[in-house]
Amino acid sequence: MKVMLLSRPGQPLSLVERTLPAPAAGEVLLRVAACGVCRTDLHVLDGELPQAHYPIVPGHEIVGTVEAVGEGVASPRVGEQVGVPWLGETCGTCFYCRHDQENLCDNPVFTGCSRDGGYATHVLAKAAFCLALPKALYPDAAQAAPLLCAGLIGGRALSLAGDGERIGLYGFGAAAHLLIQVATSQGRQVCAFTREGDAEAQAFALSLGATWAGASTQRPPFELDAAIIFAPSGELVPLALRAVRKGGSVVCGGIHMSDIPGFPYRLLWEERRLVSVANLTRHDGHAFLAAAASAKVVSHVRRYALEQANEALDDLRRGALQGAAVLIP
Ligand SMILES: [Zn+2]
Ligand SMILES: [Zn+2]
Repeated sequence: MKVMLLSRPGQPLSLVERTLPAPAAGEVLLRVAACGVCRTDLHVLDGELPQAHYPIVPGHEIVGTVEAVGEGVASPRVGEQVGVPWLGETCGTCFYCRHDQENLCDNPVFTGCSRDGGYATHVLAKAAFCLALPKALYPDAAQAAPLLCAGLIGGRALSLAGDGERIGLYGFGAAAHLLIQVATSQGRQVCAFTREGDAEAQAFALSLGATWAGASTQRPPFELDAAIIFAPSGELVPLALRAVRKGGSVVCGGIHMSDIPGFPYRLLWEERRLVSVANLTRHDGHAFLAAAASAKVVSHVRRYALEQANEALDDLRRGALQGAAVLIP
């Protein structure tokens, strides 16, 4: 098998040959059909996540076919297509696992961060944390890959944002381009906020159904019920708080963000809420995949060969992509 390995933060990934492993009890061995490139991978690359172990094979938006199963695995079966998301495994016994908040588990394993991920031809995964992606519903693995993080985390952020009708999305990349399709299918209006002068991203948002698109420093044409921030810039927090109505919510959807600058208390006053989204639960996975299927979400992807992982990461960092980058081994 081949992997793109990150030896330590700040290094480019390098192509490495490995012996094909046998799945241990509770594991499956997948042949990777596609693996999405997520902004979180850049944080792993830059050494910004305390959870990360090195050396590591990044990648946590994996679509693959089961090639072998370990002892005790009844599902998925050999030949079935599944998705492997960021949440690779939880302890099952901590306070959070026992209280239906496995996304906050005290001893989690994260795919492509603390266990090897999908920038590879093959990957091992815990069977119980794989999500079903039947080939009949998801014939194109590259299309399905971004749903597994950009989609799922966006879905969790939207549920924390509440059921308001007017939603702002700050940062219009892989997550926002999927989420806008779900939100508009639910009858919501979406305002898209991008970097100043990013006419291309604004046009992309409008083409996907945004009611309004503009720079993040601009005021939207109406007060928002909620805003979700996908861009990793803390300076967006006061801007988003300023744009939401009384009692509205601002949800930070990223795993890492630059420092939030000081802001006047009146921006938070009147019961505005500021929350972050951490990881996902398996329930989020099933719920989002169902919502995406009923909204007939279409992922806009740019495909790269496995060996082009560095190029894909670079394009994502430079904002040179519309939608999502996906590696095809
Ligand atoms: Zn736990
Ligand atoms: Zn991700």
